[in-house]
Amino acid sequence: MLKRTNLFYFLWGTGSKGFYILKFLFVLMYAEDVVSRLWELYPSGYYHINKDPFYLLISTVLSQRTRDEVTIPTTQKLFSVFGTVQQMAEADVDEIQELIKEVGFYRVKSQRIIDISRIILQDYGGVVPDSMDELLKLPGVGRKTANCVLGYGFEQDVIAVDTHVHRISNRMGLVETSDPDETEKELEKVLSKEEWKDINGLMVLFGKNICRPVGPKCDVCIMDDICPKLI
Ligand code: SF4
Repeated sequence: MLKRTNLFYFLWGTGSKGFYILKFLFVLMYAEDVVSRLWELYPSGYYHINKDPFYLLISTVLSQRTRDEVTIPTTQKLFSVFGTVQQMAEADVDEIQELIKEVGFYRVKSQRIIDISRIILQDYGGVVPDSMDELLKLPGVGRKTANCVLGYGFEQDVIAVDTHVHRISNRMGLVETSDPDETEKELEKVLSKEEWKDINGLMVLFGKNICRPVGPKCDVCIMDDICPKLI
């Protein structure tokens, strides 16, 4: 019987335009299988401590270049002292630095958090905007951060592509891309819309535990029989 991974290598190896539609249809079915296996592996999904858009926004800014094990308690500590947009906007930068000093680039992030809070307070009446265009105007906010806020905070159908989603999607052959923004666009073509906002949380869990950046655990992986392992 023809194994799916053999078909994968054949379609990817041809380079022929004639196979484009076949390849696309193959990836559509393959993507559906990948997502269903992720749900099988993590039936409870993922958990967010707080889905308030402002909390998510600041938490995602803090998470840049920082592990979740540090980001989560640091965000909680910060919000236990400065719990509102107004309090954060009026905070002294030294106080913020002291509270978040465990995260990477904490000096830059401290000023950024104050700047973001002031803009939200002055330009948006203290309410985090719910559009990509407006979120991208905030200092230090890129598409990943904006999509985390839109997806988790506002329940919009968006794909937040972080390092795990980008790596796993390419490694598994769901996309062939060189940067996260491109991955977002390509994933939108192959994933059904109702899966968009969940794929980040599922792949982050999967990327931390199984398909790790270094030393992926292919021998115990639920995707082993279908994954081309493009490492
Ligand atoms: S089989 Fe290996 S490369 Fe493929 S998803 Fe699993 S851990 Fe990652």
